[in-house]
Amino acid sequence: MPLAFDLHTHTVHSDGTTAPEDNVLLAKEVGLAGVALTDHDTVSGWTQMRDACARHGLAFIPGIELSTERDGRSVHLLGYWVNPEDAALREECDRLRNERSRRAVQICERLDDLGVGVDVARVRALAGTAPIGRPHIASAMIEAGHVPDVQTAFDRYLADGGPAYVPKYAVDPVRGVRLLADAGGATVLAHPGVSEDGGGPVTPDLLDELAAAGLHGVEVDHPAHEPDVADRWRQMANAHGLVVTGASDFHGERKSLHIGERTTTAATVEHLQTLASNKMHDRISVAPTAS
Ligand code: AMP
Ligand code: FE
Ligand code: FE
Ligand code: ZN
Repeated sequence: MPLAFDLHTHTVHSDGTTAPEDNVLLAKEVGLAGVALTDHDTVSGWTQMRDACARHGLAFIPGIELSTERDGRSVHLLGYWVNPEDAALREECDRLRNERSRRAVQICERLDDLGVGVDVARVRALAGTAPIGRPHIASAMIEAGHVPDVQTAFDRYLADGGPAYVPKYAVDPVRGVRLLADAGGATVLAHPGVSEDGGGPVTPDLLDELAAAGLHGVEVDHPAHEPDVADRWRQMANAHGLVVTGASDFHGERKSLHIGERTTTAATVEHLQTLASNKMHDRISVAPTAS
C-alpha cells in the first residue's frame, strides 16, 4: 500500500469517544503513515496525540475543525498546522465554547418549562472536556427517563425549530477560512456534500467565495459522500486548482466509521503543508522506503 494518511479524526476532546492514543493505535493497525487530529473548535488533544504518534512511529498532523454557518447551513473547515497560540483563533474557539455553554443552560430552561427538565450540571458532566452539544442534553434526558432514545429527544424537543431549540452562535465560513489561514494553517473544506442538520450541502457559489478567501483544499473522499457526489466535488476542486483530500472523519463509537476508511497520499500531504504559512511544526516528509 502506498503511504497513506487519515486527515480527519476526532477524540473525547470534542465529540469522539476515543483517546488520542487510541486513534494512533488504530491508524497503526491499518498501516497508515500518519494521522491528523481535527477535534471541533479545540486543539486540546494535540500534545497527547503528538506524543502517541512519536511513540508509535507515525507522523502527526495537527488540525482543528472549525464550525461555521451560512444561511442556516453548517459548514465545517479543517485547518492544519495552525499556530495554536494565535490570539484571534483562540479567542474564537473560546467564544464558540462559552456560547455553547450558555446555550445549553437556555435549552435546559426550556426543557424545564416543558416539564422534562434535566440537571445542567449532569449535562456538563456528560460532555466532559468536549464543548456541550445537544447530543449531551439528549443523553441526560434519557437518563432522567423523559425519552427512550436520542432520536426521540430530537424529534420531540431538540431538533432545529423544535420546542426546546435554541440556535447557536456561529462564525461565517469566509471569516473562518481567514481565521485559519491567518493562524498559519492550510485550510480544507470538510465533507461539503454532507447535509448536516438538514441545512443542505455546500453550494458551488459558496465554494467560489471560499476559494477567493484563500481556501487551499476540499475533502472530496469522505465516507458520507457517495461516489457521484465525490466525483462532482473532485471536478469542482480541480476547476479551482484546490488540493483534494480524503479522510474518515472517525468519531469512535459515535459514528460507524473506521480510521483509514478514506485516505490522502503522502505527496498530497507534503504539498498541503507547503501551503501552510506557519512553518513551526515538524515538516512531513515521507520518502518511500523499500521494506
Ligand atoms: P449542536 O452542535 O448542539 O447543534 O448539535 C448538533 C448535533 O446534534 C449533530 O451533530 C447531530 O449529531 C445531532 N442532531 C442535530 N439534529 C438532529 C436531528 N434532527 N436528529 C438527530 N440528531 C440530530
Ligand atoms: Fe463531529
Ligand atoms: Fe464535520
Ligand atoms: Zn469531523
